[in-house]
Amino acid sequence: MFEHVPAYPGDPILSLNEDFQHDPRQNKVNLSIGIYFDDAGALPVMGAVREAESALLGSIGPRPYLPMTGHAPYRDAAQALVFGADSEARASGRIATLQTIGGSGALKVGADFLKRYFPNSQLWLSDPSWENHRVVFESAGITVHTYPYYDEHSGGLRFEQMLDRIKSLPPQSIVLLHACCHNPTGVDLDDAQWAELVPVLQQRKLIAFVDMAYQGFGAGLEEDAACIRLLVSSGVPLIVANSFSKNFSLYGERCGALSVVCESADEAKRVLGQLASRVRANYSNPPTHGARLVAGVLNAPALRASWEQELSTMRERILAMRKRIYDGLNGHVEERLLTRYLAQRGMFTYTGLTEIQVERLREEHAVYLLRSGRMCVAGLNERNVGYVASAIASVVKS
Ligand code: PMP
Repeated sequence: MFEHVPAYPGDPILSLNEDFQHDPRQNKVNLSIGIYFDDAGALPVMGAVREAESALLGSIGPRPYLPMTGHAPYRDAAQALVFGADSEARASGRIATLQTIGGSGALKVGADFLKRYFPNSQLWLSDPSWENHRVVFESAGITVHTYPYYDEHSGGLRFEQMLDRIKSLPPQSIVLLHACCHNPTGVDLDDAQWAELVPVLQQRKLIAFVDMAYQGFGAGLEEDAACIRLLVSSGVPLIVANSFSKNFSLYGERCGALSVVCESADEAKRVLGQLASRVRANYSNPPTHGARLVAGVLNAPALRASWEQELSTMRERILAMRKRIYDGLNGHVEERLLTRYLAQRGMFTYTGLTEIQVERLREEHAVYLLRSGRMCVAGLNERNVGYVASAIASVVKS
């Protein structure tokens, strides 16, 4: 019956991660998948999460279904974190926020909602973007295009070209933007560029779909969400998908949220209902455990302060590793391939290494990067950074 089903070629990032797990070499270094490892190379359990979990263990109780929209304290805390606790839009009840299965689930529920209520709208992604963006939106039946973004040569942004393309889009087109720590390039818009882009979105009547998977990993929790605050105050139609996978180190718990900023509380209520209907059609309602952990941390001042502190330490460790690999490569690679380690932000850097060099890194040195040359800087640590730098220097040299 199922003979005609072809083999799934696999997801390029997840398959590489599996290859890494099976690699027997002792000195192997995984810089492929977007996961934050600590300086010991381990996946951290954050102190505040551990405490929230211990508290939960003490109150084991029945497990009813959550509502389709999710756990209410979680939704509220997520909304406050993304939009600011004192946001006007939040106070006036015009943001519809629901719990989703990770940031990916938020993207999918948002995509299904847009397909239903803006059936003729098409979506524009940065070139390049996280590979799964295209997959998720196309699987919702939305046609996906790209706008210029990354400048291969300089390792920076093609801002003028990006703006020109966005200026030419038909009204109600959807523009997907990364709030911070752009995946895969590490190249973000600066404040002045956001200030230039936002009026264009507004004048062209475009829908901004902001993906924020790394809040807290760029400059700080508030700073990383500044573009969202600007979009809200400018009245741009706005949808935000956010994820707690990285900033809570809760990857497998699948904690995310989707928010739609509306013009009134009444509109937000209707939108929330329709978002819930998309959840019902997909998976009925979200899981409980991770949402209780995140809400338990964000809504308890002492745990929240501890979480913020630990997140700052993670961010600073990434910055320190950027400096260490820069120093290790200084004098061994050309300037334009060097400065990007310091200029790019967040967990990723586009190294500018060719596919052949990436392959040699893997085969000759057991250092795993994505084929595109993307490096997860958060996989570097004091023990492996020198080795990685010399491995890169050697493949660049010959
Ligand atoms: N958006 C971006 C840009 C990402 O990098 C990721 C995770 N790699 C996601 C969304 C999805 O997040 P989650 O793992 O929470 O589904």
